[in-house]
This record gives sequence, C-alpha cells and structure tokens, in this order.
Amino acid sequence: MAYTYDDQNIFAKILRGEIPNQTVLETEHTLAFRDIYPQAPVHVLVIPKGPYVCYDHFAQAASEAEIVDFTRAIGQVCAQEGLEGPGFRLISNAGEAGVQEVPHLHVHILSGRPLGRMLQKA
Ligand code: 5GP
Repeated sequence: MAYTYDDQNIFAKILRGEIPNQTVLETEHTLAFRDIYPQAPVHVLVIPKGPYVCYDHFAQAASEAEIVDFTRAIGQVCAQEGLEGPGFRLISNAGEAGVQEVPHLHVHILSGRPLGRMLQKA
C-alpha cells in the first residue's frame, strides 16, 4: 500500500509554525513536544519533520539519516525527562485498528504514573 500524506494535518501545521507547541527537543529531522491533552504527567510526542503518515511508512521510506535522528531523539527525550529510572511506555498508533487520530507519524512517550497493562480487552 502506498501512503498518501495530507499536509493539512495538525502536526504538519505545527512543523510549519502555524500552530504553537511546547517544544521539548528539536533536531535536524525531528521535533518533540508535549501532548496538548496529556494522559500522564509525562506525555511527549516525537515526530519526524518529513511527510510520513505512520511508523511503517517511515520505516520503509525515510532515509537512514532521518531514522537515526528520530531514534536518537527518542533516546534524548527519555534522558531529558529522567525516564531511565521510573520507566516509560512508547506507543505509536497507526491507521484504523490503531485508532490513529493525527495522520503524521508520532511516537507517544508516557511516564510519571503507573500506566497499567498495555491493552485492555475490547
Ligand atoms: P493519536 O491518537 O493520533 O495516536 O494521538 C494524537 C495525539 O495528538 C493525541 O494524544 C492528542 O492529544 C494530540 N494532539 C492533537 N492535537 C494536538 C495539538 O494541536 N497539539 C498538541 N501538542 N497535541 C495534539
């Protein structure tokens, strides 16, 4: 399946500076910022600057430089937020089954409270 990127999504607008954000980290290819509706005391979204819809799209189409930058940025956010001790959860929702709301790849980093089991039964 070929993904089609919609550049009117909210994170594209954040990347263009049309909507403000609370930036945690910015690198050459990656932006990390706080979720507007935090689900935990720490709730950071990490996004690539490139036009990727979801994780598999990024993993298939992004350059090695983008992939390395994105992965290192996740590590740097975890270090900045002091998550090595308390632990955290990394989530990336994709498509309908994953209940992805914003069609620009983002990884959620969640911590600061016990997060419960990974999934609840439907
Ligand atoms: P998804 O359900 O797509 O995995 O998660 C989308 C996330 O984006 C949600 O946690 C939601 O709170 C967050 N979000 C939606 N709009 C905005 C916004 O304008 N700014 C920020 N910082 N987060 C947003």
